[in-house]
Amino acid sequence: MNKSILIRGGRVIDPSQEIDDVLDVVIADGKIAALGRKITHTADEVIDAREMIVAPGLIDVHVHLREPGFEEKETIESGTAAATAGGFTAVACMPNTDPTLDNDSEIEFVLRQAARVGHTRVYPIGALTKGRQGRELAEIGLMVRAGAVAFSDDGDGIADASVCLRAMRYVSMFDRLFVQHCDDKSLSGDGCMNAGLTATRLGLPGIPALAEEVMLQRDLALARQTEVRYHVAHVSAAGSVELVRRAKAAGQRVTAEVTPHHLLLTEEACGTYDPNYKMHPPLRSRADQEALLEGVRDGTIDCLVSDHAPHSQQEKEHEFQLAPFGIIGVETSLALFIKALIEPKVITWPAMIAAMSSRPAELLRVAGGTLKVGSAADVTVIDPRAEWTISVEKLRSKSRNTPFDGWNVRGRAVLTLVEGEFRYRDERVAARAG
Ligand SMILES: [Zn+2]
Ligand SMILES: [Zn+2]
Repeated sequence: MNKSILIRGGRVIDPSQEIDDVLDVVIADGKIAALGRKITHTADEVIDAREMIVAPGLIDVHVHLREPGFEEKETIESGTAAATAGGFTAVACMPNTDPTLDNDSEIEFVLRQAARVGHTRVYPIGALTKGRQGRELAEIGLMVRAGAVAFSDDGDGIADASVCLRAMRYVSMFDRLFVQHCDDKSLSGDGCMNAGLTATRLGLPGIPALAEEVMLQRDLALARQTEVRYHVAHVSAAGSVELVRRAKAAGQRVTAEVTPHHLLLTEEACGTYDPNYKMHPPLRSRADQEALLEGVRDGTIDCLVSDHAPHSQQEKEHEFQLAPFGIIGVETSLALFIKALIEPKVITWPAMIAAMSSRPAELLRVAGGTLKVGSAADVTVIDPRAEWTISVEKLRSKSRNTPFDGWNVRGRAVLTLVEGEFRYRDERVAARAG
C-alpha cells in the first residue's frame, strides 16, 4: 500500500467541516487518517506546512482537454499534468472533441486515458446533443452509466427551446448537472469581442451581453418546468449575475461559475488586437467586471473555473477576427483568483477554497472537496505568499495561448496529492522536507 504522510502545522481550511485552524493532517492508505492539533504520529514522510494552506484538493469543473481529436493543442496527459501543477486533483472535461463525447464509448475512452496517465482525476462531461449539433439528444443514459458526471454542448448553447427542454428533462432523470454555454447566436452572430464603444472604435463586430442574458432568461423559464440542476458556464455579464441572483432568491436550483479572465480583464484589453484576449464569452465592460466580483462576494457565483481552452500557436497567430476563442488556464487560475479575489479582499480564503473545491465536488457529486477523516486523501498544499512570474515557456500545457504571460503573481500550489499519492511537488517543499 502507499506510504503514510504527516502534513504538519499548516493552516487547514476545509469548508465542508467549517475548519480554518492550524492543524496536522495524517494520510494513510490513500485516505485522511487523522486531523488534529500536534499529532504525535509517526509517518513515512513528514511535510513541514508552516505558513502554508492545506486544503481539500482543488477541482476545476470547466476544462478542455482536447483529446480525442486535437492532440496538437493538448492531450489528457499534458492537460492533467498542467492541472496538478496548478493545484488541481480533479478536472471535469468538456465534450467538444473530435469525435464528440456524445456516447458511452467516448466517455470510457477518456476515463481509460486518464487512468493510464495518472495525474488528476478526470470527470467527463457528456454532450447533450449528438455531435453538439443541437438537434438530436445524445445517449445521455448510456453516458451516465459509463461515468459522465454532467452534460453540456459547451462551445455552443442549445438554440432550439424544445430540444433544450427535453435535454433538461433527461438530465434531471439521472440527477446530473446540466451546464449551458449561454449564447443566442442570432444575437452574437460573427462577433469577436464585447459589443460596445471599444468594438466600434476598433472596427470589430460585437457580441452583446444580451446574447448571454436572453438564453439564460429562457433557460431559467425552461428549467422551472423540470427538476434539473441548471449550471451557467462562464458568466460574463452583469445582467446574467442579476438573473442568477433572483432565480436563487426564488428558490430555483441554479448555480454559476466565473473565470479569472472575466474578473481581471475588460474589453479594453482587446485594443492591441492580440488574439490572446479573444474568448467566448468575451471580456466585457468595467461595470460587468464589477458585477461579477460582487456575484462572487455574495455567493451568487458558486464556482471558480479556468475554462482552460488550449489552441496552437499557429491558430492564435491569425488576426483577431479569425483567431479561435479561448485561453489556457489550469496552471495559472489559482494565482489569478488570488489576485482578483483575495488580494483586494473580495472574499476570504475559506470562501475561495469552497468555490474551488467543496462546491465543485457537491455539484458534480464526486469524491473530494473535503478533509473528513476516512475520505480520499485528495489534498492541495498552497504557499499563499510565493511570488512568481507567469512565463508561458514554463507552463506544462501543450499550448501557449494566455494573455497573462509576464504577470507577477503571488501564491501557488506546492503539493498536489491524489488518494495520498504525490502528483505534483514543488522543489522547495522537497528541500524543506529533506
Ligand atoms: Zn463555453
Ligand atoms: Zn469552455
